Amino acid sequence: MSVLPVNSLDTPRFCGIPTFMRLPQATSLEGLDAAILGIPSDSGAPFRTGARMAPHAVRQMSIMLRPINPYRDNINVFEKLRVADAGDCSVIPGYEIESLARIEESVAALVQAGLVPCGIGGDHSVTLAELRAVAAKHGSLALIQFDSHSDTWDKYFGGQRYSAGTPFRRGVEENIIDPHHSIQIGLRGSLFRESDISQSLDLGYEVVTTDDMYEMGFAKLAARIAERTAGRPAFVTFDMDFIDPAYAPGVQTPECGGPSARETLQLLRMMRDINLVGCDVVEVNPMYDGSGQITALLAATVMAELLALLATRA
Ligand code: MN
Ligand code: MN
Repeated sequence: MSVLPVNSLDTPRFCGIPTFMRLPQATSLEGLDAAILGIPSDSGAPFRTGARMAPHAVRQMSIMLRPINPYRDNINVFEKLRVADAGDCSVIPGYEIESLARIEESVAALVQAGLVPCGIGGDHSVTLAELRAVAAKHGSLALIQFDSHSDTWDKYFGGQRYSAGTPFRRGVEENIIDPHHSIQIGLRGSLFRESDISQSLDLGYEVVTTDDMYEMGFAKLAARIAERTAGRPAFVTFDMDFIDPAYAPGVQTPECGGPSARETLQLLRMMRDINLVGCDVVEVNPMYDGSGQITALLAATVMAELLALLATRA
């Protein structure tokens, strides 16, 4: 039995409670393949706050999206994949470590029931909690990270180990990320220290900077991502600051000189052969978004592309 979204040819988009892509709200996890989970926490933000409002904003704009993906042989994503909107995690605003524990618990409930969790963050620290829950089932994960920053710093503000700048160092230390099958894509901009990029290489990650990405070309990069993860259980984490702030101004930590909306979607649509076991889109900050909510719309579209990638999983 398929679980279909409300058809916007029958019922106007402005009617009803805005779940992600107008999917049904999950009343039970039985029979589902994947679930959308809002993760409204920004307690790990070293700069702007406001990403706690992202799940609302992204859902609101996601009602624009339609179920068929013409970039993957016209697949109807929700005929192939039974997806529901599982609502939001509970979090404790201002309490980072406690919030991570609650997020992990919510994600674990989905993963243990056999679902692929699809998170809408939240600042990037929430991904550590998701990875903990997903790795508990699948083992050490291949991470595919789209981000203008590495998020592999060690400590912030006199010893704080948990922040949006540290999850992908903590994840390696906790053995829930296998860095030798992981790849960070899109790094650019000014640095704190000369070692900001080499610190990721030292941990074992492959790093493809924004400049590398254009030199290489998207087709080659998409093939490289599949090759690097080599069929292992993979988690895609998409930080919206990967995209140029002209197209995605509403983020927590903007970084100039990134790909356009079109280029970003082109790259995602070229990705193939990923054994996706979890994904998220993070760092949307609706407080800084444009009047057309362009960041929230693009974040919703990125998630829709990840669902299409999941639907075509071998
Ligand atoms: Mn990040
Ligand atoms: Mn970032």
